[in-house]
Amino acid sequence: MEAIVAISTPPGYGGIGIIRMSGKDSFKIVDKIFEPKDKKRNKVEGYKMKYGKIFDSNGKYVDEVLVTYFVSPKSFTTENMCEINSHGGPIIVKRILELCIENGARLAEPGEFTKLAFLNGRIDLAQAEAIIDMINAKTKKEQEASMRQLEGELSKKINEIKELIMEKMVDIEASIDYPEYDIEEITRDSLKEMLEKVQLKLKEIERNFDNGKLIKDGLKMAIIGRPNAGKSSLLNALLNEERAIVTEYEGTTRDTIEEYIVIEGIPIKVIDTAGIRSKTEDKIEEIGIEKAKKIAKDADLIIYIIDSSKKLEEEDREIFKILENKKMIIVLNKQDLKQEILSENVEIKNINKPIIKLSALKKEGIDELYSQISKLFKLGEINIDDSITITNQRHREIIKNVIKKAKESIDSIDNKLPVDIISIPIKQILDELGKITGTTASDEIINEIFKKFCLGK
Ligand code: GDP
Repeated sequence: MEAIVAISTPPGYGGIGIIRMSGKDSFKIVDKIFEPKDKKRNKVEGYKMKYGKIFDSNGKYVDEVLVTYFVSPKSFTTENMCEINSHGGPIIVKRILELCIENGARLAEPGEFTKLAFLNGRIDLAQAEAIIDMINAKTKKEQEASMRQLEGELSKKINEIKELIMEKMVDIEASIDYPEYDIEEITRDSLKEMLEKVQLKLKEIERNFDNGKLIKDGLKMAIIGRPNAGKSSLLNALLNEERAIVTEYEGTTRDTIEEYIVIEGIPIKVIDTAGIRSKTEDKIEEIGIEKAKKIAKDADLIIYIIDSSKKLEEEDREIFKILENKKMIIVLNKQDLKQEILSENVEIKNINKPIIKLSALKKEGIDELYSQISKLFKLGEINIDDSITITNQRHREIIKNVIKKAKESIDSIDNKLPVDIISIPIKQILDELGKITGTTASDEIINEIFKKFCLGK
């Protein structure tokens, strides 16, 4: 039997669970375990659903289900596919999965359905990657950027550039094959013209690199301050808002919870500063210069929180000095209490960082903090609608590499190198670009990409 099978809905309890199967024999396998209510209508039709019951090999009734059929080539993988919608209990979906396996299907690897869609030519590699990015999106903006990539916008741009180069490859070949004709000079000129066009198109994509990174990875923000300044209270106030999202990574390598707030569609990861607390919790630990340095290195933004009902301490001053060159917002907390430090305080003002007054406890002034963060990173100006925004690190690396190669090629033309030498980096450009859409990606790269998918996708 030739079919792969997996549970496509997330683990746990839910209204429905979906078991997905793809392969030449998937209809035969489902036939063995599924009895449609309307027995007369036994013909399989694509995009049609049948209602019926699943039975195990002993004829024991397992669940009441709906089966959707997708007839090759009109399916996600282009193979025959079916999806069994069962009740969403973990035991039920697992039993149905096992029945499919007993009857000849093989358990799918993570991402194998999407990999088949790619290998069978239904989507290219950039589109496959867009699917995983879309599933993992933390914000609407990230999801929208991935959706555009799934629609093929990036691939279209890449293919346009490849076309430009390929047209000229013919001239290169001619010039190499017939060196007796004096076409080297003409070839050089037209290659240069082409490469400049290519460079322009690449630069256009590169212009949005920072936005792509921001949309995908967001910013890292750390809240630093002396004990009792109100770090935990501020964190709670921020996370209590609707804007907060918590992503959980379960697995063997990472068992952490990451918390994000979202400002203007950009995820802001709050660095867990619990790690900088003293191990012996009863002892009041100063934040410490070394620790401040370490956190500052990892963070794009520091929120330095001060209890403004107290006076500044020497340690605050030292830390300010260290963080001089970092993006930082000074928060004067506990505005509801009698103030010792006013924001007008010359010493604080001289640090030359934005100052926000708030009360973490009363949750007053939090919005101003949000606006200040947005202003500092110009988050409001990030627009993904009018150009290609690459959120994928792998794609960015390739484009960077290609830009370098294009420059190398132009240099070698300017240095009047022979055309066969110039052609080397140009061919490498084609090769590199193919790694984005997948035409020249090695098996190793492809496997690496699909490994990151979830089971059943
Ligand atoms: P951390 O040690 O920096 O994490 O500080 P906490 O968030 O644990 O706060 C220390 C104490 O200050 C707690 O008793 C809080 O309730 C209190 N606190 C925090 N923010 C405010 C505030 O805006 N106003 C007042 N009055 N108390 C606050």
